[in-house]
Amino acid sequence: MKVYNTMTREKEEFTPLEGTVRMYSCGPTVYNFAHIGNLRTYVFMDLLRRVLRYDGYKVKGVMNITDVGHLLSDADEGEDKMEKASREQKKSPYEIADFYTRVFFEDLEKLNISRPEVTPKATAHIPEMIAFVQGLMDKGFAYEIEDGIYFDIGKFPDYGRLSRADLEEQRAGARVDVNSQKRHPADFALWKKAPKEHIMQWESPWGMGYPGWHIECSAMSRKYLGDTFDIHTGGVDHIPIHHENEIAQSEALTGKEPARYWMHGEFMLVDNGKMSKKLGNTYTLSQLEEKGYPPLVFRYFCLNAHYRKKLNFTFEGMDAAKTSYERLLAALAAHREGREVIPEQKMEEYRRQFREAVDDDLNLPLALGVLWTMVKEPRSGQIWKQALDFDRVFGLSLDRAELPQSEKEEAPPEILALCERRWQAKKQKNFALADSLRAEVEAAGYEIADRADGFSVRPKA
Ligand code: AMP
Ligand code: ZN
Repeated sequence: MKVYNTMTREKEEFTPLEGTVRMYSCGPTVYNFAHIGNLRTYVFMDLLRRVLRYDGYKVKGVMNITDVGHLLSDADEGEDKMEKASREQKKSPYEIADFYTRVFFEDLEKLNISRPEVTPKATAHIPEMIAFVQGLMDKGFAYEIEDGIYFDIGKFPDYGRLSRADLEEQRAGARVDVNSQKRHPADFALWKKAPKEHIMQWESPWGMGYPGWHIECSAMSRKYLGDTFDIHTGGVDHIPIHHENEIAQSEALTGKEPARYWMHGEFMLVDNGKMSKKLGNTYTLSQLEEKGYPPLVFRYFCLNAHYRKKLNFTFEGMDAAKTSYERLLAALAAHREGREVIPEQKMEEYRRQFREAVDDDLNLPLALGVLWTMVKEPRSGQIWKQALDFDRVFGLSLDRAELPQSEKEEAPPEILALCERRWQAKKQKNFALADSLRAEVEAAGYEIADRADGFSVRPKA
């Protein structure tokens, strides 16, 4: 399997360090409903996990739940998102977090996103974070100022490796209002000292406070996956700050790179622009459902674009996805009881093409193309079975595809057996036998309708 590694900007052959693939995905900040852009990123995470499994790997996935410490800007500015929601909604930040975490997991389930094996909450790992920060202090990578403990990027010459950012340019371009006690404008908070009114705060060697957002991921990934694990995922917005900071913290503490492959999902746009609350275009999954788009239509919509390409969300696009998904289900259902025999060689070729597509940095649009070609074959149970096997990756609940009632065969096995013998006789051009078998079926009270690729049978009207 080949994956695109943001660190090297190349597609690389994937090999795990050990038998089980260890993977960390940055999870949601649970102060609000996830929007469809967030969900696209988790569909990407899910596809990666599914392809790894399809290829025979065991996967241990960790996805954090950020319930403290994510400020309004990724670069340590503004209020804590949880505290702000708490103030506005007049609920405790813990109630807010519980509520939105539950809705988030419901969304994942509706989208057939398999839940990562471990989903740790930041607030349940404060001691690990404090120990991490203390470790960085002890090694001289961190310093204390009035409002918190900061990472000293000047001590980490490799800073900026992932985004290939120029630090001196950053220094020159830094805003003037940036915290003047910081040694470099890009130094970031590991631990913030809490003002009294801040609800979420914990004791630490530096007084009462709360962790920075970046340290959460470093501490939890290390705890559950070790100093170096295989894959780290997130959205492209994480490249320049969040993941750069995770790398700096982890490498400074352990001397090892935290992850070997960094994979990032591109953004979803709405009407070709950014999603924003102001424009009122940050749709949630429930809103799509209310508008008549089942969650799996949204999943199908996502699968039609490669994860490294921007995906423009429009309702026309969703309409097209809905029609296409329904057609796919109908075409597939017709194979369920199909009797045609497809040469094994041909089936093998479909399997090869599918595997090649998904193993090429998750080329799901191409893999869907293979499925579409396959369902156009004459009606065969082999196609049905193969599609369900592919669905281990697609996650489109293809097994729920049902023929419309009118097309279902409604006859007992002995009648079906007669019909089957008649069908074979007809194929061998033994029409006399075929006719007498049909007569037998009709005498038993059933009627047969022939189609190009098979037959259906039901009780006489
Ligand atoms: P957050 O809850 O803000 O931390 O974001 C959760 C995830 O959604 C992160 O992995 C982000 O990178 C990702 N994300 C945010 N906005 C978008 C978007 N418009 N399209 C795709 N992913 C996004
Ligand atoms: Zn993270």
